[in-house]
Amino acid sequence: MRKPIIAGNWKLNNTSKEAIELVTLLKRNLSDVSKVDIVVCPVFTVLMDVNDVLANTNIGLGAQNLYWEDNGAFTGEISAPMIKDTGAQYVIIGHSERRQFFGETNETVNKKIKAALKHGLIPIVCVGEVLAERESGKTFDVIKEQCQGCFQGFSEEEMKGMVVAYEPVWAIGTGKTATPQQAQEVHKFIRDLLAKMYTREIADVIRIQYGGSVKADNIKDLMSQADIDGALVGGASLKSDSFVKIVKFYE
Ligand code: PEP
Repeated sequence: MRKPIIAGNWKLNNTSKEAIELVTLLKRNLSDVSKVDIVVCPVFTVLMDVNDVLANTNIGLGAQNLYWEDNGAFTGEISAPMIKDTGAQYVIIGHSERRQFFGETNETVNKKIKAALKHGLIPIVCVGEVLAERESGKTFDVIKEQCQGCFQGFSEEEMKGMVVAYEPVWAIGTGKTATPQQAQEVHKFIRDLLAKMYTREIADVIRIQYGGSVKADNIKDLMSQADIDGALVGGASLKSDSFVKIVKFYE
């Protein structure tokens, strides 16, 4: 049985004060949850403050990006050892906004996953097609290319710790969600592909989250699908009430 994992991607939001207020509420309202792994991913500048609030709780902490070198002349970047130093355990890699606005490619995603694993961070690796690709019937080709590019060259143990997020780009921040059936179809495709690239045993333990306008009123149907193991939540993770309802989808 794969334990569900629900992560909040706060994107470019929340000052230190706002972040502390939000996680203080989450900590209070989610303390009884043991069936779901919970993660919040704030901006770099508040990671340490949020980590202080989350110490000894059931809520994990993640960054939203990293650079693959540990240190050096790379102005403006943040490395895996630095993220680790904040207390974070996770890092989102290859989010579609990074692919779209910051030139992230499958190759850079692959390097970033390697850097994260080298320093003991759990990568949450995003893949997903844009609307034109879905409408022209290219979804599976795009997902295959992304997975083959991102997930090559890892050991079996490394693969087992990976979290994959399937995020159809047309559903991110648009209010349009993939139907549970549409999402399940791609999740199964990803799992079968990982089984071909590695082994069935590995593919069966990798958790695949769905992301794209997940809300309290659609999470249950999404989670009822066999290959959907959690969610990466953007907008609805910025308010305690909605994120708490999403995490407690099983109630
Ligand atoms: C995301 O940021 O990964 C995301 C899925 O955003 P939203 O839930 O707002 O669509």
